[in-house]
Amino acid sequence: MSENKVIAGLQQAVSNCKRCDLWKTRNNSVLGEGNPNAKILFVGEAPGFNEDRQGKPFVGKAGAIFNQLLDSVGLKRQNIYITNVLKCRPPKNRNPFPNEIKACSLYINSQIETIKPEKICCLGNFSTSFIMKKFGLQDKLAGISKIHGTTFNVSTLTGTIKIIPLYHPAVATYDPGMLEPLKKDFSILTET
Ligand code: SF4
Repeated sequence: MSENKVIAGLQQAVSNCKRCDLWKTRNNSVLGEGNPNAKILFVGEAPGFNEDRQGKPFVGKAGAIFNQLLDSVGLKRQNIYITNVLKCRPPKNRNPFPNEIKACSLYINSQIETIKPEKICCLGNFSTSFIMKKFGLQDKLAGISKIHGTTFNVSTLTGTIKIIPLYHPAVATYDPGMLEPLKKDFSILTET
């Protein structure tokens, strides 16, 4: 089955999904967006207010900063794929519960298997924790302020994947001084 067909099937599945209670409060589930053959996969935490309203990932203020960061390294949204660990918004943007992450993990796992990225950029602590544990890097896991901008290589059946933890772009919406560290970290994408 082609990558596009798998992604379309996942889109349908998350639209109807009731695997955790977040379906009760969502307006839209948000599978992700971008190129199903992308070499770089960005993984955030969960949809926020605007994402839930529009059914799209990384829109609103954090999305504008994300676009700016992509632009700073010559990337466009259509070159990459962007998603979140959770596909539905936690009420009031609270932190995801472990049972919600567990229930939703089949979708991100399927996206990774389908897209087969060469680099996975984890945006923020929740995404970093999920992806590093998934790839057996739990002993190297630390808070995002310690490991942002570090590249971890993991060997998989489909080749080496570079795991790169980054600050979540939303940090620059309430602290504009974080834009420069974010840009510096994103510049790694052109080097590795
Ligand atoms: S967050 Fe994930 S598991 Fe929970 S209802 Fe939404 S799609 Fe299903």
